[in-house]
Amino acid sequence: MSRPARSRRAENTAFVCVHCAASVPATTDGHYRNHCPVCLWSLHVDDLPGDRASDCGAPMEPVGLVEKSGKGWQVVHRCTACGHRQPNRLVREGAAPDDLDEVLRLPWL
Ligand SMILES: [Zn+2]
Ligand SMILES: [Zn+2]
Repeated sequence: MSRPARSRRAENTAFVCVHCAASVPATTDGHYRNHCPVCLWSLHVDDLPGDRASDCGAPMEPVGLVEKSGKGWQVVHRCTACGHRQPNRLVREGAAPDDLDEVLRLPWL
């Protein structure tokens, strides 16, 4: 079992949103960003946040919010292809924080 070598480092790079085509800058708050701050959609590239270990690559829809003790609010993403669900931290500071109106539109899970 071999797979192509690739960086397992959590990447923090600018990207273009697959859902709304917004240009998303890299975060400046020192954390890793994996979803669009405008529409909150993500991509299924991680098995665990930041590991880039998934080969799925399908868009992930924001389906709701959870509050985790010590971690604050998290948005739950569900993959539109395989159904994988993953909570992710919100970006609240620095360049292009998550749109709070979009965040608050989500149901609490
Ligand atoms: Zn977007
Ligand atoms: Zn998937």
